Amino acid sequence: MSNQKTFKGISSTALHSATNINSEDAHLVPLYATSTFTYSTTEEGMQRFESKDKEKIYSRWANPTCKAVEETIAALEAFGLKDEKGNQLELKALLHSSGQAAMATMFLSNLKAGDAILSHYSLYGGTYELMHKVLADTGIDIHIIDMRNVDEVVKAIEQFANIKLVHIETPANPTIQCVDIEAVTKIAKEKSLKVSVDNTFATPYLQQPFKYGVDFVFHSTTKFLNGHGTAIGGILLGKDIEFMKTKVWKWFALLGGNSNPFDAFLLLNGIKTLEIRMERHCENAKQLATYLAAHKAVEKVNYTGLISHPDFAVAKKQMRYDAPVMSFELKGGLQAGIAFQDKLQMCTRAVSLGTVDTLISHPASTTHHSVPKEERIKFGITDGLIRLSVGIENIEDIIADFEQALQGL
Ligand SMILES: *Cc1c(COP(=O)(O)O)cnc(C)c1O
Repeated sequence: MSNQKTFKGISSTALHSATNINSEDAHLVPLYATSTFTYSTTEEGMQRFESKDKEKIYSRWANPTCKAVEETIAALEAFGLKDEKGNQLELKALLHSSGQAAMATMFLSNLKAGDAILSHYSLYGGTYELMHKVLADTGIDIHIIDMRNVDEVVKAIEQFANIKLVHIETPANPTIQCVDIEAVTKIAKEKSLKVSVDNTFATPYLQQPFKYGVDFVFHSTTKFLNGHGTAIGGILLGKDIEFMKTKVWKWFALLGGNSNPFDAFLLLNGIKTLEIRMERHCENAKQLATYLAAHKAVEKVNYTGLISHPDFAVAKKQMRYDAPVMSFELKGGLQAGIAFQDKLQMCTRAVSLGTVDTLISHPASTTHHSVPKEERIKFGITDGLIRLSVGIENIEDIIADFEQALQGL
């Protein structure tokens, strides 16, 4: 990886960390739409096959456009961090076709039948289902607890000796709960357990989990990293380079979860504006949360920047600014939630998050429709809960749209 280059800021890192070797002096990293690579001699072919990098052989194994993305996100997650010897932290990243594919590689390369995973109950729906519907079938045990309570983490680790991996998602969907990465990692490391963090909501701009000694960071790049909603993608990063290049790479390459050059090209160009987009997303979210918290139709706002948020202190400790995603409940419950959504004129009604425009969704009728009501309520997903991913539109327009949609509710 080329994260030997170090920069003073996040945007410079996002713009200049990728290798761009191309014979035509193209300014941008080219879109290498090719399935295979040529070698001029048998000897050269042999050398490439013997190398652990597996570059310039076959695009399921590695592709230069995908590699440019891997180097860039690795540099962002390692930005300003040191390894145990005091050198710039080095990471190895693998770009996948989706967040789900990257997560599958992570779980399967770390766990086998008889092992167990420990995680928090407020998880992304796809993660929850991957654990319960796929991993469970392979004989991997799933233990879901409230990881915001560190005593519960200690208790679970003592109770279940087969736990091998602790998976944290923070901030978590859609209640924006935050798990203390440092505290949980410390407990896990006392028992030599591996720790992974889903950093999708925060991005490396807000939070860098490797700072606390975690082993893996995962992103659905579909969200803020791409930023424009143009492609599905996922990335898995690890600090044990040898493990990433052997064991993890095996699952990546043999399950065939690789991304493709076109999606990688879109992603690479999206990442270039990560910092300035995030600044605007976060600033807009702060103003919108303040507006909503004071509105008479609103019962409750789940936003890390409000003192009323149960994880306010943890969020302050581990995130640079408050999250650009929030949720809120209307006093009028389900009917008011539906009426509000339908009246919106500018903000976009869609699932997903992290795009430049403001996206609004109603978890009870969409993403969490299949979760039984009692379970949903336990997770804080009430019938009237609305989730929003605040875009980079001018805040005056976002508030004006909300104002007219909330009228009379
Ligand atoms: C979207 C998302 C995923 C899954 O990623 P896909 O790109 O949709 O496969 C996982 N975790 C979180 C937090 C997400 O938001």
